[in-house]
Amino acid sequence: MSLYGAIEAGGTKFVCAVGTGPDDLRAQVRLPTTTPAETLGRCIDFFRNQPKVEALGVGCFGPIELRRGTPGYGHVTTTPKPGWANADVVGPLQQALGVPLGFDTDVNGAVLGESRWGAARGLDTALYVTIGTGIGGGALVGGKLAHGLVHPEMGHLLLPREPDDASFEGVCPFHGGRCWEGVASGPALERRWGCRAETLPAPHPAWDLQARYVASALTTLVLVLSPERVILGGGVMQAEQLFPLVRSHLLRSLGGYVSADALVHGIDSYVVPPLLGQRAGIAGALALAELAAGEPPAAPQSIAQLS
Ligand code: ADP
Ligand code: ZN
Repeated sequence: MSLYGAIEAGGTKFVCAVGTGPDDLRAQVRLPTTTPAETLGRCIDFFRNQPKVEALGVGCFGPIELRRGTPGYGHVTTTPKPGWANADVVGPLQQALGVPLGFDTDVNGAVLGESRWGAARGLDTALYVTIGTGIGGGALVGGKLAHGLVHPEMGHLLLPREPDDASFEGVCPFHGGRCWEGVASGPALERRWGCRAETLPAPHPAWDLQARYVASALTTLVLVLSPERVILGGGVMQAEQLFPLVRSHLLRSLGGYVSADALVHGIDSYVVPPLLGQRAGIAGALALAELAAGEPPAAPQSIAQLS
């Protein structure tokens, strides 16, 4: 089994790990995200103190430049995060560690990891959405991660407003209350209801409204991408009561038009939480490393081994 390096590069923390898969992590460290030079320097120190890895995968917060051969390849681009706008992530790592490097969005990594070891195992077209401080989606389409002009920015899909929520101003700095992130991210819930989402009781009108917005966006995503499974992660989706509500609103808003059995008769296994749970991010980065190394995937592990 080959040894890979993984970096889950987030706006508040970087997690570095070395391993052969998500249930065989040989070493791991969590570093606070400070300046690019300091944070990447500490990542490099970590990997220099580990056995040599075959390849390194980085699942990164965005937006990022993914077009190989462009001068900005491997950089974070327009983030408001202080110090990180136009920061080169791939360059310093590549230079210091000299191994093949896979780089993609955190959510593209997550969908790849879930397809390799988790809830989308064996599927080649799947969607992963995180609903947390922001909303972001990653898509595996025909076995390939979706990016092109930039990369998908599903959190900013424009949504029709729910009639009982017409006066809410929303929180997206670009679209106010017109986009998904503006009305359904964790900060949107906090602004609308006046408390953090995790403190809202399970029987509360917040959840049905939230589920309607999530189902509305998923309706578009299902129609455009035709995923074989939809994985919903992130802090807000830890409110488990959302899953049955999202499923029934999704079926209702598709209106019976998409008649695939997996959706109509298998909705409980069509819209699901990430099987890798807290490890989805680091597993995604490992899967990006494996892809960069060009290794054909080994036999899948059983789901029981992972939980
Ligand atoms: P990030 O998006 O920054 O990586 P998370 O995915 O953990 O972080 O999302 C953080 C958001 O999730 C916060 O807005 C928080 O209020 C919300 N959140 C965290 N736990 C829960 C929970 N159990 N139920 C609902 N919302 C939650
Ligand atoms: Zn927006």
